[in-house]
Amino acid sequence: MRLSRYFLPILREVPKEAEIVSHRLMLRAGMIRQESAGIYAWLPLGKRVLDKICNVIREEQNRSGAIEIMMPTIQSADLWRESGRYEDYGKEMLRIKDRHEREMLYGPTNEEMLTEIVRAYVRSYKDLPLNLYHIQWKFRDEVRPRFGVMRSREFLMKDAYSIDLDFESAVVAYNRMFVAYLRTFERLGLKAIPMVADTGPIGGNHSHEFIILASTGESQVFCHSGYLEMDTPDVGVNFDDPEELQSIVNRWTSHYAATEEKHDEEAFAAIPEDQRLSARGIEVGHIFYFGTKYSEPMGARIAGPDGVERPVHMGSYGIGPSRLVAAIIEASHDENGIIWPEAIAPFQVGVLNLKVGDAATDAACESLYAELTARGVDVLYDDTEERPGSKFATADLIGLPWQIIVGPKGLAAGTVELKRRADGSRETLSVDAVLARIA
Ligand code: ATP
Ligand code: MG
Ligand code: MG
Ligand code: MG
Repeated sequence: MRLSRYFLPILREVPKEAEIVSHRLMLRAGMIRQESAGIYAWLPLGKRVLDKICNVIREEQNRSGAIEIMMPTIQSADLWRESGRYEDYGKEMLRIKDRHEREMLYGPTNEEMLTEIVRAYVRSYKDLPLNLYHIQWKFRDEVRPRFGVMRSREFLMKDAYSIDLDFESAVVAYNRMFVAYLRTFERLGLKAIPMVADTGPIGGNHSHEFIILASTGESQVFCHSGYLEMDTPDVGVNFDDPEELQSIVNRWTSHYAATEEKHDEEAFAAIPEDQRLSARGIEVGHIFYFGTKYSEPMGARIAGPDGVERPVHMGSYGIGPSRLVAAIIEASHDENGIIWPEAIAPFQVGVLNLKVGDAATDAACESLYAELTARGVDVLYDDTEERPGSKFATADLIGLPWQIIVGPKGLAAGTVELKRRADGSRETLSVDAVLARIA
């Protein structure tokens, strides 16, 4: 992409309305635009990052055996009356009427709809296990939308739903998602800690919130510092081996970690003092086993091997990709701007032309741009008339992991400069050496 033809509305001054650093940086980097309270348009740079995050999530969901579908955003109130949640959900639900006065709603989540699909098509235990997910916009009329896309009213969610015959197989499904989440957050460059969370009336210990520690987080959390050093499962993990999954989950639940609602002062006090973490956290994911809560009232029943019909056991598994964009920035920035992990950077490389109009510089940049593009690298070529200082500032603000700085002086000696955003380190290299390093 040539910056001269791109749409990157950078703000030089710090927006007053933004209270936390990720919100300020997302506005300054031209990633999002607020359209109403808690409702955002995603501008090109933001959209690129959001898509990359979704792709990482999708790859790990697919790897674990989950299957992608797409359910609508608008749902019928009648469906929610079947589970009893239409009244219970309260003011967070956006209720709508169509031209025939039929009551509709903008989905805050999809348990009812997924249960309806299962009820329609899944007949036998032989069709199980099944895990269906989608990545779709949700609406929750939050009392206090704030911090930009961290707590917005319209937000993107990956929500998966597992369907199993009984409790034991539902736990295997739960563990699959647990492990898939560990891998997902690791690939996004985050240290997310699974913390025991509330299960409501269902009880049991199969609800975990995945939390990132950050001073701007809205939840108070308590955990053992050992989680910060723990290894995440590698790409070879076998999702068809329940024992392997269970041993990973056992390890990742072996230390104390709980959100405020489930906090146990005594258990926490038993941790050696220098390993106790009491901190603020951001909820980026939540997995939940809820048994027959929806299948029972909605009649999603299937026959087991004995021919007897019973309600299916289900769980749901959410991740917020739009919140993640902000959470990743909270975890990875400096005074100059965003520092994207390479896996989700909007562009991997910036080519900064320090003297547009100088024939040799233009030619070197053009050829770098063409060569990197041909090798499948996402490049942003700054071919604008801006001063060098302003180009450096933009590249750092939007967090390009690698920046190739091309100017007449260096070229006279046959070199360009390669800057790494993460640590600011710089190297002087030939064009060929730069290409070999990056692509
Ligand atoms: P919170 O406690 O922050 O209100 P939640 O527990 O209500 O979140 P879930 O119903 O567990 O959220 O939804 C799954 C995921 O969706 C959350 O872990 C989070 O990543 C994301 N999410 C929920 N609400 C919002 C929101 N208002 N804005 C952005 N992302 C959200
Ligand atoms: Mg909520
Ligand atoms: Mg929550
Ligand atoms: Mg939650």
